[in-house]
Amino acid sequence: MAYELNKKLKSIEPYETLPVTSPVRLDANESCYNIADKIGDIIGKAVKDIEFNRYPDPTAKKVTEAFATFYGIKPENCTAGNGSDELIFLILSSFLEKGDTVVTLSPDFSMYAFYGFLNELKIRNLPKEDDLKIDVGKVAEYCNNNDVGAIIFSNPCNPTSLGVRRQDVIRLVKNVYCLVIVDEAYMDFWGESVIDLTDEYDNLVVLKTCSKNMGMAALRLGFAVAGDKITTALRAAKSPYNVNAVTQAAAAAVLNHKSLIMEYTAEMINSRKQLQNSICELSERYFTIEKVYDSVTNFVFVKTPKAQEISEKLLSRGVAVRYMGSYLRITAGTEEENSIFLREFREILSLL
Ligand code: PMP
Repeated sequence: MAYELNKKLKSIEPYETLPVTSPVRLDANESCYNIADKIGDIIGKAVKDIEFNRYPDPTAKKVTEAFATFYGIKPENCTAGNGSDELIFLILSSFLEKGDTVVTLSPDFSMYAFYGFLNELKIRNLPKEDDLKIDVGKVAEYCNNNDVGAIIFSNPCNPTSLGVRRQDVIRLVKNVYCLVIVDEAYMDFWGESVIDLTDEYDNLVVLKTCSKNMGMAALRLGFAVAGDKITTALRAAKSPYNVNAVTQAAAAAVLNHKSLIMEYTAEMINSRKQLQNSICELSERYFTIEKVYDSVTNFVFVKTPKAQEISEKLLSRGVAVRYMGSYLRITAGTEEENSIFLREFREILSLL
């Protein structure tokens, strides 16, 4: 007899990624800088010292301390994960029970609803306002009136590139009964973080990743920052050796180079500003670009009814960007990558 997958597994589709072979990759919001070019020897030495026959430190102590020092917070508040992706799954699966309601906002990072679905949660996907901003008052009211277990959103948002100000996030956290998971994957490109407030609000979890501004996407490392009650539960619920020893050692070495990370972050912010300005200029000439959003991230979000066609044409010319319905999301790259993108983009627009 053939083995039957359950309905849940039959209905899911794998997360879509573009081929890694494109010469210009502006599709995954990664850092365009490889920090190993500067401190490869130091990272190499840290990796060489690993006891490869031993399991990794289950508490990821050294890298957690380096992360906490980087942000000026307490290591006791931080739990390391195999990418923040693992932590999203872990929090949704362990802090909520089957059938509980999780609120997501739309559009937002697609993995929230995906993991909610896998964990058999009720997903209430609230649409954002017409300008893709979030009305915090409305969201709080919805959570309080609908027996919601948790709300999760990215701030700043992937894909819209827009941010909710710190005082508005605080208003939300203060005014709802449920767990509030604020995914700050792109916050280092802006500066309205609430990472310092997790001791004050016991329903707040802040997620951070080392994959974006820190340029360590290859290592898979993220952190959940929360107060005592949540952190103790999270550490108990996680799998014991979730962060491998190579990641722990290499990331600790990188995190000790704060000024280098800050330098790269500043360069990516500059790159995004230039990219956004150039796309805005193009939008004055080519009306198929309907709107360029005011980004506070390392990518630019563009509304165009021709998003799919443009992204396919760009890909055939060696430039990968993401398209989502009638939007394009373009990661800021190096000066050279941006100029190749702009050259091809301009030509495609002129031929549409
Ligand atoms: N949150 C958001 C908003 C993201 O965009 C991403 C990566 N695309 C993640 C989380 C996952 O990050 P990580 O690499 O740490 O799993």
